[in-house]
Order: sequence, then C-alpha cells, then structure tokens
Amino acid sequence: MGFRASELVLPKRLWMVLSFLCFSIAEFAHAKAQIEGVRLWRAPDHTRVVFDLSAPLEHKLFSLENPHRLVLDMESAGNKFALADLDLNKTPIRRIRSGARDKQDLRVVLDLHEAVKPRSFLLKRHGDKPDRLVLDLFDKSLKTEKKLEQAQPSQKRDIIIAVDAGHGGEDPGAIGPGGLREKAVVLAISKELVRQINQVKGYKGKLVRTGDYYIGLRKRRNIARDIRADLFISIHADAFKHPSASGASVFALSRRGATSETARFLARKENEADLIGGVGGVSLEDKDEVLAGVLVDLSMTASLSSSLQVGDKVLKSMGKIAKLHKRRVEQAGFAVLKSPDVPSILVETGFISNPKEAKNLGSSRYRKKMASQIFKGVRSYFDDKPPVGSYLAWVKNGQKEGRPREYIIARGDTLSGIALEYNVSVAALKKANKLRNSRIRVGQRLKIPTS
Ligand SMILES: [Zn+2]
Repeated sequence: MGFRASELVLPKRLWMVLSFLCFSIAEFAHAKAQIEGVRLWRAPDHTRVVFDLSAPLEHKLFSLENPHRLVLDMESAGNKFALADLDLNKTPIRRIRSGARDKQDLRVVLDLHEAVKPRSFLLKRHGDKPDRLVLDLFDKSLKTEKKLEQAQPSQKRDIIIAVDAGHGGEDPGAIGPGGLREKAVVLAISKELVRQINQVKGYKGKLVRTGDYYIGLRKRRNIARDIRADLFISIHADAFKHPSASGASVFALSRRGATSETARFLARKENEADLIGGVGGVSLEDKDEVLAGVLVDLSMTASLSSSLQVGDKVLKSMGKIAKLHKRRVEQAGFAVLKSPDVPSILVETGFISNPKEAKNLGSSRYRKKMASQIFKGVRSYFDDKPPVGSYLAWVKNGQKEGRPREYIIARGDTLSGIALEYNVSVAALKKANKLRNSRIRVGQRLKIPTS
C-alpha cells in the first residue's frame, strides 16, 4: 500500500511541529529560574531578604555555625543580581555570596555577625510583583518591650492609641503621580499623629509600624492588643480605579456586606496586602473568627459600635479641612480591623490617585493638619466617653462632682496647656487664680475651676 503525495504532507508537518515541541519542552525543563533582584527590609525584630525570581523554584534552607551563616540552596537556578551591591547596614548579615552547585543549582550563602532564627517561604506572582522567595532572619536577642500598662498606676492611666501606618516594605500600597508612595505618606502622617497624641496629658500614642517594613494584617491587630490599646487607627491614602475619586473617608468593620462599591473595592485591595507584603504561608482566611464563638461576637458588637462612634467624630473633624468621600462611616470586611476587643477604624486620608489630593498628601504642612484633625476627632470621642480608670475619666468625674481641683505647675507647663488639659478656658483659669498675666512658675499651685 503506497502513500499518495498529498497524504504525506500532513505527517511531515506534524513531525516538524512535534520535534519543535520536544525541543521546547527540553529547553523548558532546563530553563533556570533567575534571581533578578534582591531587596532588604529591616524591622525592629527581624531582617527580611526578598529575592525576585523569574519563575517559582524549589529551595532548601539551613544554618551553619562557626562562623554563623545561612545557606539557601535553590534548585535549577541562576543569579543575575550583584549581591555585593546590597546595603547590609544595621542587619545581622555581613556578606551575601552565591555560586553554582551541581552545575545547574544555585547556592546562596549569608555570612552573619550573629546567630538568627531563620524562616523562608515563596510568594506567588501577584499583580506586577514577580514570584519571590522571602527569607526572614529573626533576631535572637529580642529586646522585649516593657508593656505600657505595667508602667502605669491602675488609676489615671493613659488612653492608648495604636496608630497603624498601612502597608510598608515589600508592599508600597497605592502609587500616586510622580511615584508618591502610600506607605511613605501614611507613615509620615502616623508619626505626626503619634507626636501630637503624646503631647497631650492622659494620652499615649504608639506606632504599630515604625519604619519601612511589612507587618501582616493580623499581627498589626495583635500589636494593638498587646499594648492594650483603647483605639486602633489604621492610616491609608489609597487609589481607586477612577482618578476622579476623591475625598477622605473613615471605615469600620462590617460583618455583613460592604456599604458601598468603594468600600468593597478598597477592602479587597487592603486585604491583598498580605499577598504583596508577605506573611509566610499563612492563609488569609481568619481561622480565629470561626473558633471565637459567642463571646467574641458580643465584644465585637460592642467594639464595633464604639468604632462607628469614634469613626463618626474623626470623619466630621476631617471634614473641616478635607473634602469627604462619604458623609458617613463606611463599612466593609477589612482584615486589619477584625479585633474583637479593640475599637478599630481605618482612615483614608485621601485618594493618592487623585492629582489634587496627591499634591496635598505630599506636603508635610497638610499632613500635619490631617493628623491634627484626626486627633481632634479622637479626643472629642474620649472626652464624651473616657475609659474607666483613665486620667481623662478622673478629670471628668472630678468636674461632675464639683470637687475643687488643684494643679501643681511642672517644668514646661503653659497656662494654655493646662487649660486644654482640664477643658477650661485660659480666662477662667486666670480668674480663678487671680492671675494678671500668663506668667506661672514651677511649683505654683493653681485652682482648676469647674467648666
Ligand atoms: Zn492602603
């Protein structure tokens, strides 16, 4: 049986296609994942090294002693990055070097100044971020911070505000015109807010994130709980798909649905932060919620109503200097707000995607004003409802009972500062103490009038 010419054409073509495919598959099997970039982030308790990869890969990690070093073996990989260029200042790493191993694998060695607790995990390609291998070096000499509440007497304690600057490190957050990055803008606002909080007696502000590194969303909540925060404020400046979107807004958690399309969109974006910033293989689902049961549900309901009340005050106060996106506190399923016992709000200081607001957010003068309006809102909430045992409650109750109060001037006090502290006017202070001018001296006793 012979073939006709026309019958031969197809198999021949097929053969060509097949041989090409085989060649491609063989090529693919040998294709190496390349390290295309390396970044370092220093957090207070660990150092994060992020390797950008051209493709996912298998890896092994182990430590060696004498001298301390970490070895990272990557299968079928190569390195295109100049490791010697990395700035290792303030990290436990002395040097990073790499070499080929078994012809096609890559070995990366980190020479260390001291022993660390290492962990590594892969982050899948997400958005414009490539596949990444994350190596965390946890400090062994953990400086455990003295818990705030231990340093305070049980009465007249400070109201503690945890201020959380969104994003950080691997996760830049939204990016505005001229490369303005949300993570930097919100850290600046947060630092300013904490500075202002700490100037007022009866309040203590604490940054959740103090520098340019990433913290997982659940960890942020836990930091607030560890310091026994009375309020958790997460600060953001986000982008929306429409550049015309503008205005500041305040969000609280919703256990049902989102109250608007923007709320839903932003919550989804904020919750993605863990995928971009990296939380080490922890799933994004909140397992603790399932285990929490009825009690958590009750306290969550209580803290949610506080969240809405304080959120409302903050929103109104911001409305005095900024356009508002919505007149009401919006609600959506923000993971960072899921603290059952700490009232929590997320403040959108504006849209970094809106050219006019980006310009504002880039200016330190505006950021100062924004921080001040946020704090004014917070104060007006706690003035109404000071927590039991707080200094503010003590001041307020004193006023209610009409007890005569006295204040002894300390170094650095000003009449206007004292007036602010006790919620009375400078004129009333002067009148009660028969002062002719604002001059006061250390040790002087002032009568505080009831306002
Ligand atoms: Zn954000």
